[in-house]
Amino acid sequence: MANAVKLSPTGDRQKALISRLEKEAGTSINLCYQCGKCTAGCPAAFAMDYPPRQVIRLLQLGFVDEALNAESVWICASCETCSSRCPRGVDIAALMDAVRREALAQNRITDKKVAAFNKAFLNGVKWFGRTYEAGLTLQYNTATKQFTKDSELGLPMYLKGKLGILPERIKGRDAVRKIFERSQEKGGE
Ligand code: SF4
Ligand code: SF4
Repeated sequence: MANAVKLSPTGDRQKALISRLEKEAGTSINLCYQCGKCTAGCPAAFAMDYPPRQVIRLLQLGFVDEALNAESVWICASCETCSSRCPRGVDIAALMDAVRREALAQNRITDKKVAAFNKAFLNGVKWFGRTYEAGLTLQYNTATKQFTKDSELGLPMYLKGKLGILPERIKGRDAVRKIFERSQEKGGE
């Protein structure tokens, strides 16, 4: 039947990938009994295509490509509410993070704006040891081709001392740089 839903698509590739994601997240999807407490507490679930309980269910059923293509992993704020509420000890936040990294590695970025924001934020931390709002805005707006986005807020924020023109640099920048280097050695951005 042409429109039949394939319920068990798990081949060797999917199984290997799911095992790797579990290993990277340090958790097991099979512990989940689908109670939904994670979704009930998730502050971002209202905006997700698959709330956290359903992301776990996709993986349990072997729908790893669907999980990798979910917008949810880009909307997740890594607040860890889900992990702290889970009665089965599933670290869903870590799993969302592992799925997000894999989606990035496979260039399956369903929300390019969130990915651009992440990159601009991390660049600021890497270069200056802390976020640099003006630089972040410039990088983000350029990457997303929204060149004048929020420009009307710049001057009022500057006049109120909420926005610096030049970046502040912290003392331990070498230590921060080393963290990024170690992350890159492990395959991070
Ligand atoms: S709270 Fe834990 S057991 Fe319940 S649905 Fe979420 S991951 Fe599964
Ligand atoms: S870590 Fe992500 S999925 Fe979990 S509660 Fe927070 S926003 Fe939701």
